[in-house]
Amino acid sequence: HAVVHWFKMDLRHSDNRSLALASAKAKEAGVPLICVYIISPQDFEAHLTSPVRVDFMLRTLSVLKDDLAALDIPLYVETVDKRKDIPHRMLELMEEWGSNHLFANMEYEVDELRREARMIHQFAENNMSFEVVHDTCIVPPGQLHTGAGKQYAVYTPWYRAWMAHIHENLDLIELYDRPEKNPDAARRTFKTLFDCRIPDAPKNKQLSDEEKKRFHGLWPCGEHEAMSRLDKFCDDAVTSYHDKRNIPGDSGTSGLSVHLASGTISSRTCVRIARDRNKTKRLDGGHQGIQVWISEVAWRDFYKHVLVHWPYVCMNKPFKPEYANIEWSYNMNHFEAWCEGRTGFPIVDAAMRQLNHMGYMHNRCRMIVASFLSKDLLIDWRMGEKYFMEHLIDGDFASNNGGWGFSASVGVDPQPYFRVFNPLLQSEKFDSSGEYIRKWIPELGALSDKEIHDPYNRGAGTKAKKQGYPKQIVDHKGARERALSAYKAGLESG
Ligand code: FAD
Repeated sequence: HAVVHWFKMDLRHSDNRSLALASAKAKEAGVPLICVYIISPQDFEAHLTSPVRVDFMLRTLSVLKDDLAALDIPLYVETVDKRKDIPHRMLELMEEWGSNHLFANMEYEVDELRREARMIHQFAENNMSFEVVHDTCIVPPGQLHTGAGKQYAVYTPWYRAWMAHIHENLDLIELYDRPEKNPDAARRTFKTLFDCRIPDAPKNKQLSDEEKKRFHGLWPCGEHEAMSRLDKFCDDAVTSYHDKRNIPGDSGTSGLSVHLASGTISSRTCVRIARDRNKTKRLDGGHQGIQVWISEVAWRDFYKHVLVHWPYVCMNKPFKPEYANIEWSYNMNHFEAWCEGRTGFPIVDAAMRQLNHMGYMHNRCRMIVASFLSKDLLIDWRMGEKYFMEHLIDGDFASNNGGWGFSASVGVDPQPYFRVFNPLLQSEKFDSSGEYIRKWIPELGALSDKEIHDPYNRGAGTKAKKQGYPKQIVDHKGARERALSAYKAGLESG
């Protein structure tokens, strides 16, 4: 007999609730713990998981396999081609391993919740138990309600409730122990599982050699890397986070999103460690940088709560149904220029080139390019949301959908639709020295700090043209007017 933990987006052995519970159960029953991860190409397709993210997860599995092996715990990894076969395959594996206890952390996207609900029944019919527990949020969804007993649809009051709830339930930021070492016999009994190799990525998600080299250098994987990144951020940057977090040319943020998205670190660990570095035990006191950082990590919880309460956001629908009737433009030349970073707006182009090169983009720039696509180009925000998922290494459905909904003014607690970012002002305010633009658009490198934000209108047109940098594909003022009318017309017809 054995107890099994099923890894999904929780690729770590420290502070992993389901894994800790599975380990405790195994110990109590005097049986070994087995871990499993299923590669599901259809899920990658359905969720638009980017090749760089798939690669990051597969690399991480190797680290995890070694960490678990050091505790004599096997990690078995298998590809199951059709996602509908996963529940049945899991039952088969359980039988093969003589186990009737499966544990996993809950995922809140609709497909996953439905699958898990079905599996709980199937397992029960087979006299097995499948325990799915809350782990990914610090405050599990369903705990916070307005005075009227409703789910919050506005961040600030939600955040106050979130904070109060944690202070009343401090066990929410207690960290879970690593699993216990397996009995010695496990090595022999499950030798084939220890020996299994980690399969390759599905064909359509593989990286080229050049991409592998680039992304492996940019994004070292695994939970040890995540912990050292968190430690370094807490040592060097967290106390100035509130000042620097909006400056894309400055590495003032943690860069932990890739780890939070794959679960190589938990949000609980992030908040707990940041709190322990503070002068106070309160999450909303002490260093301003620490407070602001914790409030950003809280956004991640917020958007996951939204997903649970309004699951239709998973179905290509705007959170605000009244914005379902906007007449979008489907100008593919504009869309391609946006994707490739050649709109003629340097801050937008720099950001898109950062995304294409790194699989990552600074938060301020995510807002700028999302506003630009949905308002200046009046292109359906869902095309941008999809492009992000297909390219981000930290792609996370809830945060991405929330961020796009915010910027396109169709989401939960959004920017009002009449607030249209002016790319030039954003550029001058947040990249005043042009450092970020210079990094990503080398052809503008020789322009002065003033010229670089808007070369053709600041007397540097000849230089920009010579370097092959394009003119603006739209006029911001006119585009703003067009967006306001389209949003208004959409609202009126909704
Ligand atoms: P830090 O500033 O160090 O923040 C720490 C952590 O807090 C982040 O790693 C992240 O987990 C969380 N966080 C911070 N800001 C937000 C936010 N606004 N919403 C949700 N969580 C937040 N984040 C993703 O993790 N995945 C996405 O797919 C994603 N798509 C986005 C799309 C758009 C249009 C926008 C506007 C934002 C998106 N974000 C997404 C949120 C945010 O941009 C990134 O989390 C952040 O840039 C990651 O960098 P960091 O780890 O250095 O962040």
